[in-house]
Amino acid sequence: MSNIYEPVIGLEVHAELATRSKMFCACPVVDTTQAEPNSAVCPVCAGMPGVLPVVNQKAVEFALRVALALACEIAPSSLFARKNYFYPDLPKGYQISQYENPLAVNGRLTILTSQGEKVVRIRRVHLEEDTGKLTHIAESGNGSINEIRPAHTLIDLNRAGVPLLEIVSEPDMHSAEEVGAYARALHSLLRYLKVNSGDMQKGAMRIEPNISIRPAGSQTFGTRCEIKNLNTFRGLERAVDFEIRRQSALLDEGKVVEQETRGWIDDQGITVTQRSKEEAHDYRYFPEPDLPPLVLDRAWVEEILASLPELPISRLHRFQEQYKLSAYDAEVLTAEQETADYYEAAVAAAPQVAPKVIANWICGELFSLLNQTGMTLAECPVTPRALAALIFLVTSGEINLGTGKVVLAEMFHSGQSAEAIIASRGLRQISDSSAIAGMVQQVLKNNPEQVQSYLAGKTGIAQWLFGQVMKAAKGQANPQVVRQELEKQLNAMINNGY
Ligand code: ADP
Ligand code: ZN
Ligand code: MG
Repeated sequence: MSNIYEPVIGLEVHAELATRSKMFCACPVVDTTQAEPNSAVCPVCAGMPGVLPVVNQKAVEFALRVALALACEIAPSSLFARKNYFYPDLPKGYQISQYENPLAVNGRLTILTSQGEKVVRIRRVHLEEDTGKLTHIAESGNGSINEIRPAHTLIDLNRAGVPLLEIVSEPDMHSAEEVGAYARALHSLLRYLKVNSGDMQKGAMRIEPNISIRPAGSQTFGTRCEIKNLNTFRGLERAVDFEIRRQSALLDEGKVVEQETRGWIDDQGITVTQRSKEEAHDYRYFPEPDLPPLVLDRAWVEEILASLPELPISRLHRFQEQYKLSAYDAEVLTAEQETADYYEAAVAAAPQVAPKVIANWICGELFSLLNQTGMTLAECPVTPRALAALIFLVTSGEINLGTGKVVLAEMFHSGQSAEAIIASRGLRQISDSSAIAGMVQQVLKNNPEQVQSYLAGKTGIAQWLFGQVMKAAKGQANPQVVRQELEKQLNAMINNGY
C-alpha cells in the first residue's frame, strides 16, 4: 500500500524578449532557425577581450512590463552579476545575469484549473542573456579510415546575448495540472504584453520545474529535482507526472530522493539524471564591474504601468460577466489577444445574437476549420463581421443550423459572404408550413410500410420519417416545423383509425 504524498513544485521560466537588438550590444536578434549561423555577432557578444556591454533599454522596458503585469515590487535599483562557467556556448566564460538584487520580486499570477482559480506567488523576475547554440554531429564516414569525419560540434553565436527574462515562482503548485495551467497563463501573458514571440518550438519560452514530494500534511519540504529545458506544455505535464511517480516510488521503497538536475526524454516518457548535487556548478557570482547599477526612473516605470493592456485574467473575468460565458469558454476566448479581439468584434456586429451563441460558433466550427487548414485567426478569411452576419441568418431562421455550418465552410474557402452563398446556391430555409406539409404528406405516402409499423407502436420510426422529409427538402427545411407537421399528420392518422 503506497503512502500519500503531496507534490511541491516551483517553476523557473526563461523567456526570450522580442527586442530588435541583443541585451548588451547592437547586434540584431535573428531567427536562429533561418539566419546564416554567426551572421549576427560582434566582438561584445562573441566575448572578445576589452569590449564593454551596454544595457538595452527596450529589454528593460519589456522586463518591466512583465514584472508589473505580475504585480511585482520593482527594485528602484538592481544589479547585474557575472555567473561564471566554462562552456563553449558562452564565449565570455560568464553569463551576465542578476543575482542578489533582481529587477523585481514578490509578484503573483492567477492560474485556472479544473478546481477553479488559484494564485501562484512569483519569487523574482530578472534580466539576463541567452547563450549560443551548439549542434553536436556524430562521427560519420563510409568505413574507410581516410573517410571518417570525427564527431564534432558546431557553434552558432547568433543567439548569444539575446535578452532573456527569468521568471521564478514560489513552490506553490501541487500537481502537473497546476504546473500546466501556470505555464499556459504565463505564455498567454507574455503574448498579451507583446514581449515574447510565444514560439515554444523555437525555444522562445523554456520551462524548468523543480519538484519534490513530502508526506501529506508535512510542513517541511522534501529534496527537489529540477528538470531542464522543457518546451511543450504537454512535455512539461508529463515530465512532472513522471517525476512525482518516480519520487513516490523511491520513498515507498524506503530510499531517498537525491537532489539533482534531470533531463526529460520525450519519446520514452522518462526523466534521467543529468547532473548530481556533487557536480553542481559553483558559479562564483560577483557584481558585473562593467555595468553600473540599473537605476530606474520612477516616472518611466509609472508610464509603463499605465500603458499595460487589459491582461488575460481581467479580460477573462469581464467576458464571464459581460457575455455570460462559462469560465471554460472565457478562457479559450481570452488565451490569445487576437481571439478575444475577434470575438468582441463579432459580438459587436451582431447585437441581436446572444454572445454565448457566437462563442460556440468560434470555439466549435471556426476553430475546427482553422485547425484543418493549419491557419491562424490572423489569416482567417472570414471576418468577425461576416461571421456575425452568418450566425444571425441562422438564429433568425433564414437558414438552419446544418446549412449554416456548410455555408461557413464555403465562406472560409471562397471568402464570399453568407448572403452571396445562400443566394447563389438557393439554400434559404423552408419554414413555410404549407410547403413542408406537402413534403411530409408525400413522404408518408411513399413509405406505407414504415407508416404501418409506426402505427403498430414502433414510434422510433418517426425519426426515420423525419430524416426522409429533411432529405426531400435537401436539408433546407426548418427542422422544428418538419417535426410539428410530421407529428400532426401521424396523429391525424391515429385519430382517423388507421
Ligand atoms: P536555483 O534552482 O537556482 O537554486 P531557487 O533555489 O531559487 O533557485 O529555486 C528555484 C525554484 O525551485 C523556485 O521556483 C522554487 O520555488 C523551487 N523550489 C525550491 N525549493 C523547492 C522544493 N523543495 N520543492 C520544489 N520546488 C522547490
Ligand atoms: Zn553583438
Ligand atoms: Mg534552478
